[in-house]
Amino acid sequence: MSVRVRFAPSPTGRMHVGNFRSALYNYLFARKHGGVFFVRIEDTDRARLVENGVENILRTLAAMGISHEEGPFLNEDGTIVQRGGKGPYIQSERLAIYRQQIEQLIEHGDAYPCFCTPERLESLRAEQEAAKKPTGYDRRCRALAPEEAKARSKTGERHVVRHKLPESGETEFHDAVRGHVKFRNDLLDDYVLLKSDGFPTYHLANVVDDHLMETTHVIRGEEWLSSTPKHLLLYEAFGWTPPQFAHMPLLLNPDRSKLSKRQGDVAVEDYLANGYLPEALINFVALLGWNPSDEQEIYGIDELIAKFELKDINSAGAVFNREKLDWLNGKYLRSLPLDRLAERAAPFLEAAGLLEKESDGWRVIRGGEKLTAADLGAVISLERERVKTLAELPEAVAFLLEDVPEYPGERLRWKGQPVGEVLARLDALLETVGAMDAEEFTLKDIESRVKGLIAGNGWGNGDTLWPLRVALSGREKSPGPFEIMAVLGKMKVIRRLEAAKNRLNA
Ligand code: GLU
Repeated sequence: MSVRVRFAPSPTGRMHVGNFRSALYNYLFARKHGGVFFVRIEDTDRARLVENGVENILRTLAAMGISHEEGPFLNEDGTIVQRGGKGPYIQSERLAIYRQQIEQLIEHGDAYPCFCTPERLESLRAEQEAAKKPTGYDRRCRALAPEEAKARSKTGERHVVRHKLPESGETEFHDAVRGHVKFRNDLLDDYVLLKSDGFPTYHLANVVDDHLMETTHVIRGEEWLSSTPKHLLLYEAFGWTPPQFAHMPLLLNPDRSKLSKRQGDVAVEDYLANGYLPEALINFVALLGWNPSDEQEIYGIDELIAKFELKDINSAGAVFNREKLDWLNGKYLRSLPLDRLAERAAPFLEAAGLLEKESDGWRVIRGGEKLTAADLGAVISLERERVKTLAELPEAVAFLLEDVPEYPGERLRWKGQPVGEVLARLDALLETVGAMDAEEFTLKDIESRVKGLIAGNGWGNGDTLWPLRVALSGREKSPGPFEIMAVLGKMKVIRRLEAAKNRLNA
């Protein structure tokens, strides 16, 4: 049987990290087994929908590099198309299917219309609470004669449809994470399958769709574990074979409280906007509740796919450790190939007004020159050791993407060094650089020429390299002068040395 798994989000807002983990685990599982990963939109709770919810889900998945074979897809013009043989994949477009299935359940006596008004249910609940009894539906309409129930629904009387659950016995199943799980049926409520607005509840739509879409494994959060007996009883009522279940552990704050949407930014798009790399986030989220080994922490996507096994998912809550994410992000910032890093960093540099995207690379806004991904990679390479996120990069590399940096001329003087000495050093440096080949302006060459100049004149490192470094960067602290020179190239180095002289002469 080939694997078919799904990500079934509700379009209710931004994608929480916990939801993204569901997408990721299902994706890894599908890729590992050469199966199909599809997306289904569970939008039957009309009150919770947000505008552009579906677009947002699809954009976030794309930004994270998680691709699906079936379901809704975003066109370039922003419209949504659906592809795949088991659609529609948006539940609000499947109402006729659920209605047909529910008729069948009523016919077989596994579900019944309930005409109790919201007011009655409310006072029932109040009574149960006052008597300190468990709350839940008292099954009054279960006793209605089927003909009467049918006649009343035909006249259009407002009603819901409830699942007629067994009043005794147990529902048991094997969960790939938790092992054998057992629930007492008498503790389950005759819950609603179809709402009075004609929309199915999550339970009905989820089961019908997982069956019709031939889902083989349901990998989802632990918060759905208590719904699973209801689902299994529904599969049984329909006479369908249920999929296999795997419930992922809860996500916890470091104080072990439940990680909630309301606690700070736990939306994937916020992490991306704050400059976390998709690679680092994927690595981090994959390890929230799963790890095949105790030692290894860094996993690229291919390795995750190769190693992913449901049996290695933990049942204990997974602590969301921000510091570990920062650490991982730093690792990826330092190890990603530079051209890839450049692609990731570019949007941040564009937003900061340093670069403009062009068809074949970027243009430096305050300088005009063109950069390829390799050029931009070289710029970033100077600062990537020092930043934790891409969002910190614009500030860190701005001095490399300026025409000439702005700074007080005073800064050029090494420990109060006389201005005349600084000027002499800058002149000598201009001469040395001027004599070099622009095509061979390499780090090694630059370093040996400048060091030769210093040694030949018996100068100090500080009184030569400090003015040089400030002339190049404008900053008190910056990468070393030779590295900056190699990245800037001969002509820009000359411009900056000239500008430094002018600053002192002014
Ligand atoms: N729509 C549910 C959610 O938002 C899906 C749960 C499931 O995978 O069954 O998480």
